[in-house]
Amino acid sequence: MKEPLISTHQLSCRYGSLEILKDLHLEIPQGSIYGFLGPNGAGKTTTIRLLLGLIKPTAGSIRLFGQELERHRVQVLQRVGALIETPSLYKHLSGRDNLEVMRRMVGLKKSRVDEVLEIVRLRQDAHRPVKQYSLGMCQRLGIALALLSDPELLILDEPTNGLDPSGIREMRELLKELNQEHGKTIFLSSHLLSEIEKTVTHVGILHQGQLRFQGWVQELQKATQRASTVEVEVGNVLLANEILLGIGHAVETLDAQRLRVAVQEKEEAAALNHFLVEGGVAVYNLAFTAQSLEEVFLSMTEAPVLESSAKTQLQPVLQT
Ligand code: ATP
Repeated sequence: MKEPLISTHQLSCRYGSLEILKDLHLEIPQGSIYGFLGPNGAGKTTTIRLLLGLIKPTAGSIRLFGQELERHRVQVLQRVGALIETPSLYKHLSGRDNLEVMRRMVGLKKSRVDEVLEIVRLRQDAHRPVKQYSLGMCQRLGIALALLSDPELLILDEPTNGLDPSGIREMRELLKELNQEHGKTIFLSSHLLSEIEKTVTHVGILHQGQLRFQGWVQELQKATQRASTVEVEVGNVLLANEILLGIGHAVETLDAQRLRVAVQEKEEAAALNHFLVEGGVAVYNLAFTAQSLEEVFLSMTEAPVLESSAKTQLQPVLQT
């Protein structure tokens, strides 16, 4: 198995007495688009600052490209491009000149500016002053700056934050293209699953500084099928309730004819129907309702962190 491009081991960080991150084990596979999700204040930006060597962890270690960040900081960070929140741009200069300033500082060939303008689709607007750019254009220019040195890894903090739906779509397409056509591994943070679920291959869910889930996005989708309910319309709610409680289901009475029952597997819906009919209850309707991806995400980030049960239930499932 290939070593992940980014891995952290028991990474912890405190600001004074405040514990912000606790024992983070991140694994970002090479070639992935990894969505680092969590509500505001979960610790995403702090993690990104640590990954970029901008602050030091209180405990634990970080490896980038298989090397300890602490010992090989300069070599390792040369291979990383980053955008933290809104990019720092010279607003009175054109998009091209912003890139040109950075190109000269880094000492890259002149043609690289046109190459990155082309990638982020800003060539047409390259001559305009940045103060006339939309937020989406500023974000794309920020990504162009991060791309100048042709890094293998891009770390982007909330790149879709504040964008309108078309800006989000453009960003989504750009990130996919950078990943699929230019071979970049991308680590991006977001507090909204809906903005990134169509883009990412892997997800890490952070809640109160702890990782609640890490794995392929399909694994998260599987969790939606596991966390399901069945709504049952019956002739006798009281009797149905009694039967279902008797066979160990959690039941909620919705109205005079309907019950909601928690199930773990699809097959349980058939068994439940069987027990009701056997028990003399007429079943008029039975509808399976899976939790949406958003509901699963919210259930992971709204409940307080439970030390042991959360870890066993949501253990890392990353495969590379
Ligand atoms: P957001 O999306 O709102 O930026 P986040 O997940 O990126 O949230 P962080 O910015 O990492 O979260 O902040 C995590 C916690 O650390 C918050 O409670 C924040 O108040 C606190 N924090 C961040 N920076 C500092 C600092 N320099 N000093 C003290 N506390 C800080």
